[in-house]
Amino acid sequence: MGTTDTSGRATGQATGCEDRPRFRDFDTALQDSRLFPLTATGIETLQVNFGTLCNQSCGHCHVSAGPSRSERIGKGTLKKCLEILRDANIATVDITGGAPELNPHFRFFVDACRALDKHVMSRCNLTVLFEPGNEDLAEFYADRDVEVIASMPCYLEKNVDAQRGPGVHEKSLTALKRLNDVGYGREDDGLVLNLVYNPGDDALPPPQCELEADYKRALWDAHGVTFNNLFTIANMPIGRFHEYLRREKLYQSYMERLIDAYNPDAVPGVMCHYTLSVGWDGSLYDCDFNQMLGMRCDHGAPEHISRFDLEKLRSRRVVTGLHCFGCTAGAGSSCGGAVLEQ
Ligand code: SF4
Ligand code: SF4
Repeated sequence: MGTTDTSGRATGQATGCEDRPRFRDFDTALQDSRLFPLTATGIETLQVNFGTLCNQSCGHCHVSAGPSRSERIGKGTLKKCLEILRDANIATVDITGGAPELNPHFRFFVDACRALDKHVMSRCNLTVLFEPGNEDLAEFYADRDVEVIASMPCYLEKNVDAQRGPGVHEKSLTALKRLNDVGYGREDDGLVLNLVYNPGDDALPPPQCELEADYKRALWDAHGVTFNNLFTIANMPIGRFHEYLRREKLYQSYMERLIDAYNPDAVPGVMCHYTLSVGWDGSLYDCDFNQMLGMRCDHGAPEHISRFDLEKLRSRRVVTGLHCFGCTAGAGSSCGGAVLEQ
């Protein structure tokens, strides 16, 4: 068909489908909705990617992380992030990876962010609590009031293990209990534990509210585990999930599903509006997904943290691609889950 390149970017070509091009360009969809160009409205969150090293190799991973990956952020780049957090008055830091806790500078960075009185969110895969040197990770998080956002793609063992590896479900539950024990996930303790669901296949996520109620009931009844919120996130057609779609010959149909479900009401809530993403090498991106596709900030905005320019970045035009349909399908999908209430 020849409508996309291997990165998932639109090439703007129609596919010869009878009534309409099979793939529209995302910017054309925005234009049709009078939402073009997609433009940042500020920088409320600095998302810092610690690199691709991870103790797991999940089948859906959009960053293709794993134990053999060696890219990791250095202390110099983290110090520059801290300068920016201080000087640009950005309230929230969103730490992601890979498994960021495996980086030797992780705890230094969290402590420095808290010393600046920033709200710190950390995306935790749960099993990292059992990696050497992280035995006290739950206490470390609790002592610093870090918001933990933990991957838990299902409450059923067979689904979690199929997506994330044998034994991951059991380890994840043990980790959740440990987090509960230090005060996470209880309504009145103030330590926030949010779980992340993503589909195990090429489906779109179900309604977030209903699934959250199912998760809460199932995890409490079977394991005595509590948490605060469930975020449903669509699988993005990039990284290892892109490879899976190609391998299973599902790429065309998945993209059609995303495009058919395009919802302009979800556009204002996508994370590139209020987030700036820093790569492990200091490159700047509109979001974590653009980062994985190597699509750095553009349209006159600096593309590296060494040339950080608040005025240019906070109202920058966002770099878009076909994968952006993954954020705007149905109720929308962002790093904080569904964009619209369902
Ligand atoms: S999805 Fe998360 S836990 Fe799984 S390999 Fe990727 S970064 Fe690691
Ligand atoms: S992938 Fe999503 S968050 Fe990233 S630029 Fe596209 S719409 Fe924005």
